[in-house]
Amino acid sequence: FIQCAGQRNPEHLPYCSSYCCLVALKQAKYVRELNPEAKAYIFYRDMRTPGQFEEFYKNAQNDIGIFLTKGEVVSISENSDKSLNIEVEQTLLGEKITVKADLVVLATGMVSSYEGLPTTREEVFERYGLTGQEEPDVIEKTIAETPQPWVGILNLQYRQAPEIPVLKYSLPDSNFICFPYESRRTGIYAAGCVRQPLDIDGCIRDARGAALKAIQCMELESRGAAVHPRAGDLSFPQFFLQRCTQCKRCTQECPFGALDEDEKGTPKPNIFRCRRCGVCMGACPERIVGFQNYNIDIISSMIKAISVPEDDEEKLRILCLACENDAYPALDMAGINHINYSPLLRVIPMRCLGSMNLVFITDALSRGIDGVLLLGCKFGDDYQCHFVRGSELADYRMSKLHETLSKLGLEAERAELVQVAITDYDKLPGIIDKFINRIKEIGPNPFKGW
Ligand code: SF4
Ligand code: SF4
Repeated sequence: FIQCAGQRNPEHLPYCSSYCCLVALKQAKYVRELNPEAKAYIFYRDMRTPGQFEEFYKNAQNDIGIFLTKGEVVSISENSDKSLNIEVEQTLLGEKITVKADLVVLATGMVSSYEGLPTTREEVFERYGLTGQEEPDVIEKTIAETPQPWVGILNLQYRQAPEIPVLKYSLPDSNFICFPYESRRTGIYAAGCVRQPLDIDGCIRDARGAALKAIQCMELESRGAAVHPRAGDLSFPQFFLQRCTQCKRCTQECPFGALDEDEKGTPKPNIFRCRRCGVCMGACPERIVGFQNYNIDIISSMIKAISVPEDDEEKLRILCLACENDAYPALDMAGINHINYSPLLRVIPMRCLGSMNLVFITDALSRGIDGVLLLGCKFGDDYQCHFVRGSELADYRMSKLHETLSKLGLEAERAELVQVAITDYDKLPGIIDKFINRIKEIGPNPFKGW
């Protein structure tokens, strides 16, 4: 048995499949049970028996017919009698050894069945040679007429793609720390080896978790409530479509594919997919999307209610828009731990930083607030955003802010987005002070007192 055959190797499979060492030990035991004269060799880099299998490992170790040897296999060659020669280097004894075997078993690892499938809208279009600008019936006809040897697995009716979006190693895109089974398709949960390489025990545990999630989902959806992470929320986004310009920003930015489009590009909300993140509210340049209890008017009124010290008071006022999932609890944790942070700050919680509409920043700055600090979750490949892309989209919108602020004669540095996790609560005073010091260098907002 040759372990990690191509696994934990940046050139091939960079990850550990976590089950192969145990399987090799088990198969070696089977061989020995069936033929007590047989010898089994297991060549490993590190013997990994996750969970509670240490005793099983020791049992195999104590079997006089099972040889566990640490080393790197450098070659396998066939002898004239069809047996195989295995050469192993870097053994614990430092010697090169050669073993003659009748059968060689390679632990090649587990690969996602999504590997190579088009799973994002862009990949689907690339695969079918489309640009996305074609008429819908042209897109459908091209897809229908193209041979599909890779045949999709789920074939969902989502405008972004027919499969579950995937991330690194073609495994489902999900926030692994906070809700591992969730996928970006509300009501579809990934468990077991669909989610990550696992042994059978791990798969059973995972399936239990996913089944509980599915039960919660059915119960919540049956009464029109949102699922995790805003479980129980009965609000839903409302669109004042008379003023919709069909710009498609909301439909493209919704992380959960909850917004379909009609033929003109007007959003068609699918409430059962919606997670109430408010990303559509943040995206809409016409400000026509909102919830009954969370909308542009409510946030703008909160901004308006913030007292702005007059210029001669020599005091700054800083607005902090904090994501309620990590950043806002982190500010809370700082308070609980008696960690002081600047009293110049006024904090407004956001459902997700992705629900931040740029109008909040321009409103705040045009009222004389000196700076706006946005605190959101980490984005990128190892993102922590509870709504997948919210903080990333907020960051993208911030890149467009420069132009608007220069029209107002204000510096772009007056607004900044910082990525924080709940565990960063002790770093928050430093982050806030750094931002305030920068605002001090720029000087007070010239709109103060207008
Ligand atoms: S609230 Fe979030 S999930 Fe619902 S439609 Fe808007 S962007 Fe999509
Ligand atoms: S972002 Fe606003 S204006 Fe654009 S399509 Fe959506 S609802 Fe209409």
